[in-house]
Amino acid sequence: MSTGYVYHEMFAWHDTGTSAGLFRSDPRAGVQPLIHFENSETKRRIHELIVVSGLIDHLTRIAPRPATEDEILRVHDRAHLERIKAESERPGGGDAGDGLSPFGQGAYDIAALAAGGAIEAVDAVLAGRVDNAYALVRPPGHHAEPATGMGFCLFGNLAIAAHHAMHVYGLERIAVVDWDVHHGNGTQKAFYDDPRVLTISLHQDELFPPRSGYRSERGEGAGRGYALNVPLPPGTGDGGYLYAMDRAVVPALTRFRPELILVASGFDAAAMDPLGRQLLTSEGYRALTGRLLDVAAQSCGGRLAMSHEGGYNPAHVPFCGLAVIGALARVPTIEDPFQAVVGAQGGHDLAPHQREVIDLAAVAASDGARSER
Ligand SMILES: [Zn+2]
Repeated sequence: MSTGYVYHEMFAWHDTGTSAGLFRSDPRAGVQPLIHFENSETKRRIHELIVVSGLIDHLTRIAPRPATEDEILRVHDRAHLERIKAESERPGGGDAGDGLSPFGQGAYDIAALAAGGAIEAVDAVLAGRVDNAYALVRPPGHHAEPATGMGFCLFGNLAIAAHHAMHVYGLERIAVVDWDVHHGNGTQKAFYDDPRVLTISLHQDELFPPRSGYRSERGEGAGRGYALNVPLPPGTGDGGYLYAMDRAVVPALTRFRPELILVASGFDAAAMDPLGRQLLTSEGYRALTGRLLDVAAQSCGGRLAMSHEGGYNPAHVPFCGLAVIGALARVPTIEDPFQAVVGAQGGHDLAPHQREVIDLAAVAASDGARSER
């Protein structure tokens, strides 16, 4: 077994400025300068824990390289690319598109390196150089839509990597599982009418983007039935997430028979996240990873690649990252000190109201599969 690992120090140099969490500082509005929620700390600390804990010795380092314009343009339109590029040249930088996603000078280069990092992870898996891979990239990508960035995302890293898999390796069935607490709207939109890519998003109901990620969003045209959304009530813990995985996600993957499984890996569904209201523990993430490894082993020779998305608690997130990457490499990792605290909190058992909505998503998915035949 070998697990590829992408990281570059430049990812921590992506500058999101002094916003107070979400909002640019503005003394007239009472918003004091602070630090943006999407800052370098969570990701840099995942990497340093991987190194210091010794997990790095069990991983195969994969160097990222900048995605080319042609690669970015497989997902995004030219106007979006050019705007990001132009704002990236300005001394003050710019914004990905929604006013909540500031970036500093030179951000284009780092965003291209993040997309290229996801490409290289997928490439290493498909070329058989590694069994599976984790790309710890920044900025994240799953909210970026063809014509705009948003939600701290400039370019759709994983969507660009999926196109690489289709374009270079001729793959015809790719599944993307998104467990970031927010809806994977960008990835969904990139493939909404494309039956080659099944997008599955587990996310907190009605969180971000607004009015996005409903069960009724199933794809369109030839892609009808190839988008699956499992919105989960706030307060869903390990039991609810695992039920969603077993009841809705795994059956959909098994039916689809992917040649490659990609994962948009956000740790903002973890219990101590400032933006999400879910309760996942690092052990919950480890168990979810195990389920996907099993499906990948059965359907596609274990070919699985993950690309990093959100997760904003710098103390807890590194242990979630360690659990997932340790699971990919099948290596035991040092104990998560938070597990005894968050794992003992109430809310980890599947609740009836969670079961109800997960069952509805699962039934909608299987009904769709039947009607397509
Ligand atoms: Zn997120």
